[in-house]
Amino acid sequence: TRPFFVGGNWKLNPTSLSAAKSLVEALNKAELDPATEVVIGVPAIYLIPIQEIASNGIQVAAENAYYKESGAFTGEISPKQIADAGIPYVILGHSERRTIFNETSEVVALKTRHALDAGLKVILCIGETLKEREEGRTAAVCEEQLSAAVKQLKEEDWSKIVIAYEPVWAIGTGKVATTSQAQETHVDVRKYLATAVSPAVATATRVIYGGSVTAANSKDLAGQQDIDGFLVGGASLKPEFVNIINARK
Ligand code: 13P
Repeated sequence: TRPFFVGGNWKLNPTSLSAAKSLVEALNKAELDPATEVVIGVPAIYLIPIQEIASNGIQVAAENAYYKESGAFTGEISPKQIADAGIPYVILGHSERRTIFNETSEVVALKTRHALDAGLKVILCIGETLKEREEGRTAAVCEEQLSAAVKQLKEEDWSKIVIAYEPVWAIGTGKVATTSQAQETHVDVRKYLATAVSPAVATATRVIYGGSVTAANSKDLAGQQDIDGFLVGGASLKPEFVNIINARK
């Protein structure tokens, strides 16, 4: 069985340390389903102070990392630095990184390799655009994005990976995927892993859904057999994030 996993992705929010601390303090005090693994993605500048105050089982994730340990790479943050700060997770390959910052699947795969080598766990994001879905290419796009990672990873690495399926058309749009759209793609992802990696990895790897998840739609999605949790953007900044964490309760 795959433990339910709910990630919050704060993205470039909030804009003060005090507001960031308030978000975590609310989660520290909340009644959270102990069966849910909870991870919050936090902007780099707040990682250490938020890591220091997070309790109640809440883990912290960086939202990006470079594929070098150190050196002349102005403005970057390395997996080694993140791990040294006691941060267990990093989000890689988010569609905003792919589209706004031009990260290819190969770059995302390299970053994944280096993050694992530094001892981090990775929330690896994939997903199709609306045009790709309309052309019937959803599964092919997800496979292409995953295949770059498959080339970089050994079978045992997959226990450190959570795959976040986030259709680009659902991110920040209020247009959540239907339960069957999400479930079907998660099954396709698992089928791909079964052939490209192994049936055991396909069964054990958590595939979570992201894109306009709210407290209201989270229960139905959480009831699908192959939806192992969520990656939540906007709603992770609101009190309803607690209800999403408790979607299986
Ligand atoms: P929203 O929940 O705001 O649609 O964002 C989803 C997302 O991008 C999580 O990584």
